Amino acid sequence: MTTPTKTPKTEENSPKTLFGLPKEVQFCKKCVMSNQRPSSTVEFKNLDKKETLAFDDEGVCSACRIHERKWDGIDWGARQKDLEELLDRHRSSDGSYDVIVPGSGGKDSMYVSHVLKYKFGMHPLTITWPPHMYTDIGRINFDAWIAAGFDNVSFTPNGDVHRLLTREAFLNLLHPFQPFILGQKNIGPKMALQYGVKLIVYGENEAEGGSRIKFNNTMNTQFFASPRDERRDVVIGKRSYNELIDLGLSHHDLEPYLPIALEDLQEAGIEMHYMSFYENWRCQEKYYFAQEHCGFQPNPERTEGTYTKFASLDDKIDGLQYYTTHIKFGIGRATYDAAYDIRHRYIDRDEGVALVKRYDGEFPQKYFQDCLDYMEINEEQFYETLDNFRSPHLWMKEADEWKLRHTVK
Ligand SMILES: [Zn+2]
Repeated sequence: MTTPTKTPKTEENSPKTLFGLPKEVQFCKKCVMSNQRPSSTVEFKNLDKKETLAFDDEGVCSACRIHERKWDGIDWGARQKDLEELLDRHRSSDGSYDVIVPGSGGKDSMYVSHVLKYKFGMHPLTITWPPHMYTDIGRINFDAWIAAGFDNVSFTPNGDVHRLLTREAFLNLLHPFQPFILGQKNIGPKMALQYGVKLIVYGENEAEGGSRIKFNNTMNTQFFASPRDERRDVVIGKRSYNELIDLGLSHHDLEPYLPIALEDLQEAGIEMHYMSFYENWRCQEKYYFAQEHCGFQPNPERTEGTYTKFASLDDKIDGLQYYTTHIKFGIGRATYDAAYDIRHRYIDRDEGVALVKRYDGEFPQKYFQDCLDYMEINEEQFYETLDNFRSPHLWMKEADEWKLRHTVK
C-alpha cells in the first residue's frame, strides 16, 4: 500500500513572500490596483507586518468603494456649507495668516490656496518642504505659484543629512522618498504652531487612494504627531533614532524628521482638513484650474513609467520612487495613475489595463545618474539593492530577465 505523497513545497510552486505581503496576488475588479499596495506612503517601520489595501468579498478594493460613494450618496452642497462655516470660524479680520496650505506648487496646492484666498477671502500662508533635486519644470511651477499671489515659507533641511537619510532609506528599505515624506508631512503642523495659525488645509485625502486612515474630514493627528515622549520612536531608512545618532547624526539633525508633539498640537487647538472632503475632487479639473489661474505647466513630455504629464513632477527622484514600488509590490506609476483615473471616471478598466501593460515599470532613465550621484551609490550597488527587494512571490527570472509572475488582466 502506498501513501499518496503531497507535492513538495518548492520555490516554484510556493514562492516566498517578503515584507509580509499577501501571498495570493489579487487585482481589483473595478480598477487595476492589486492587494500588494501598502496602506501608508511612509510604509513599514519594520519590513514585516505591512498593512495592505483591503478587498471586499466581491473582489473590489476599498479605494474604489470610497469613490463609488462620492458619486452618489454624498450631499456636496451640504459639505460646501460645512466648509464655509469652518472658514468663517477661522478667517482673520486684521489680515493676519489664518490658514496654512502645505504644498510644492503642484496643481493641488495651487488650487487649494487660490480658492481659499480668492473665493473665500482667507489669508493663506503656503508652506513648502522643497525637493532636494528640483526638476526644471518643478522649479518653474513653484515660482509660478508664488507669483500668482501667495506668501510662502520654505523649509529646507540640512542637505548633507537629507542625502544620508535618502541613501539609507534606499539601501535598507528601497524607499528613497521616505525621509522626504516624513519631513513633508510634519512641516505643515510645525509651521502652524510657529505662526500661531489654527487651521491647515490639504488637498486630497490619501485614504481615497487606499490608505487605511480612519478619518475623513479632519486628519488623524496621530498620523502626523506623536506623544512627546514617543517622538524619538521614529524609524528612518529602517534605522532607529539611536542607530542614526550612532551614524554621526545629532538630535538637531533629526529634529525636522520627527513628528510634532501631540500635546503641542492639541494645546494650540490646530485643526487639519482635506479639501477633498468638501467637494467631489477630480484631479484633471485641478490641472486645468491651476493652468488657468496660477500658470501651472505640465511636463513637456510624457512622464517616465506612466502616461500622464501633470502629476508629481517636481523632484528628480519621483521616477525612481515609483520604480521602487514596482520592484517591491509589482505596482508601478502607471498602475497608480490608471487606478486613480478609473475611480475618477476618466478612463474605463480596459483602457487602464492597456496603459499599465504599456508603461508600468518603465525604467526612470532621465534622472537615473542624478539619483545615483545624489545617493552616492554606484550602478552595481543600485541593481543589487533592487534584486534584494524582489519578493519571490512576485518575481521570477526567465532567460536572465526579471518577470512579474502576476499582471493585471
Ligand atoms: Zn479598485
